[in-house]
Amino acid sequence: MNLPTRLSNLGAAILDVLFPARCLLCNERTAAGADILFCPSCGGRLTIIQPPLCPCCGRLLPDSAASHLCGACLRQRPAFSKARALFIYDKFSAPLIHDFKYRGRTTGRRTFNALLRRSSVRQELKTPDLIIPVPLHHKRLRQRGFNQALTLARSLFPEDKRIIRTNLLVRRRWTTPQASLNGHERRKNLRNAFITAHAARVKGKNILLIDDVFTTGSTLNECAATLRHNGAHDIEALTLARVLE
Ligand SMILES: [Zn+2]
Ligand SMILES: [Zn+2]
Repeated sequence: MNLPTRLSNLGAAILDVLFPARCLLCNERTAAGADILFCPSCGGRLTIIQPPLCPCCGRLLPDSAASHLCGACLRQRPAFSKARALFIYDKFSAPLIHDFKYRGRTTGRRTFNALLRRSSVRQELKTPDLIIPVPLHHKRLRQRGFNQALTLARSLFPEDKRIIRTNLLVRRRWTTPQASLNGHERRKNLRNAFITAHAARVKGKNILLIDDVFTTGSTLNECAATLRHNGAHDIEALTLARVLE
């Protein structure tokens, strides 16, 4: 073992004594140096998304033998061409998202990155020209102090920071939090909520939208429709989690 490696191992060992790695879900101690911070029991409860699923919106099709377009996408294709997520949003993963989104707990960032690296999602998505986190309204940004979608984009794509853009898509209207609304109300609530700033910079581009959870897809759809309207070539979306529905 060469000296730099030995020093870095020593550094990791000291860090582990000072700040022992803990499971993101139950806070039990986990293996030192692990890039995925789940204890074996919690790791087993997280449902990683796998086919069969809708090739367009990524809806899980557990009762189907193979992947196929879901009814909703057959009726009306969303404005994004593909949406993918890493794991199911359920009672096990909800606290993980909640801590990250509302409490600004960033200890999960390395885990999110490792989950993406190990998933097939990265190969399924195009290499984007631009990565755009779903924007918060400036009032909400002031309240919360950070945009979790931006934190997530930086965690998932640390090598692509120069193409992560927060100034091209703007949430211009204050909207009721989507969590309190049903599907139809969500779409209505978001109508014309976003605008593209510097339309010329999105024209002809392949764009990857980033958000924390895919619930009905209305927010991502509205963002994608706005970008498409301004000449973006293709829009795909990636979220950490997706509801099963
Ligand atoms: Zn645990
Ligand atoms: Zn679908």
